[in-house]
Amino acid sequence: MTRNERIHGLGYCRSCLNETYGLKLKREDVLVYDFMGQCMKCGKTRHIVHRVKKYKTWKLIGSRKLGKEC
Ligand SMILES: [Zn+2]
Repeated sequence: MTRNERIHGLGYCRSCLNETYGLKLKREDVLVYDFMGQCMKCGKTRHIVHRVKKYKTWKLIGSRKLGKEC
C-alpha cells in the first residue's frame, strides 16, 4: 500500500493529517472531496483529503509514522 492509498483510506481532514503524521501539507498540496465529510479523527465536518497531489508526495516521505504503517 502506498502512502497516498493510506491517506485515502484514513478519511482525515488536512489539519488532522498534519497533526497525526507530522506533515506540513498546505491546502494546495492535497485533493479533497467536493462535498464536506466527517473527519474520522476530529469528527468535525470538514473537507476530507483523498489524496496528496502527485508532485507533492515527497512531503509524505518525511513522515516516519506514515511510512511504518505502510
Ligand atoms: Zn480532522
